[in-house]
Amino acid sequence: MLSIGCHLSSSKGYLNMGKDAVKINANTFQFFTRNPRGSKARALDMADIEDYLVFAAAHKINRILAHAPYTLNACSADDSVREFAHLTMADDLNRLEHTPGNCYNFHPGSHVGQGAETGISYISNLLNDILKPEQHTTVLLETMSGKGSEVGRSFEELREILDRVTLTDHIGVCLDTCHVWDGGYDIAGHLDEVLTQFDKLIGLNRLKAIHLNDSMNGLGSHKDRHAKIGEGCIGAEALIRVVNHPALKELPFYLETPNELEGYAREIKLFREAYLGK
Ligand code: FE
Ligand code: FE
Ligand code: ZN
Repeated sequence: MLSIGCHLSSSKGYLNMGKDAVKINANTFQFFTRNPRGSKARALDMADIEDYLVFAAAHKINRILAHAPYTLNACSADDSVREFAHLTMADDLNRLEHTPGNCYNFHPGSHVGQGAETGISYISNLLNDILKPEQHTTVLLETMSGKGSEVGRSFEELREILDRVTLTDHIGVCLDTCHVWDGGYDIAGHLDEVLTQFDKLIGLNRLKAIHLNDSMNGLGSHKDRHAKIGEGCIGAEALIRVVNHPALKELPFYLETPNELEGYAREIKLFREAYLGK
């Protein structure tokens, strides 16, 4: 069974996200752990979480993906900005213990002129600080498009971070189809080669989730602007091949296309109908 969902607003709580997922025939979803601009998180509503867990089990919703605020920068040159990323991510991981067994995705950050090497050491130090052996959440580094001074623009950079993290079982990668395309990896024309490269440098066993997006821009554009499925430069056929690839088809897929629920429902239907698995 294809595991697919989309990004949902977390403002109405877990149970409502579960209900929205069911409405659009999704069996998973992604959400921001707090306001994406990185403000203070609201207190956890434990009754909502308990209701959600019952609802999710009944509707076979699993492998949900929490997304850290995208404004965090774990490799800023400014100590207080790095400290804020540290506190926010540590707090998110504590909160996620109430919905154990899922993943937490974050953008590695921007080195803002300090160089990728400096960025990579800040990021791996932060991860070594906040990851605890007893945690039940896997932290994922997202593949980035290489806009500005983003770290994680290449499989090599992600591998460098992963190599330095001690608790290897607690860390993995989320591949964003728009970002890798914008980063110069031709998943439309050469998917097998891209995945072989990923496997050689990072290991496909480290790949835990896929962000399924079309891109408004061309291969290697380093822009990061998501398009609806079939309305961008990657195209629906290529994205269907991603979902059906033997190395990927068991992973959870999350749409982050510019859509309301109805648009997401249509895209989920498209992929479910094209899915070759059981
Ligand atoms: Fe992201
Ligand atoms: Fe993404
Ligand atoms: Zn993006």
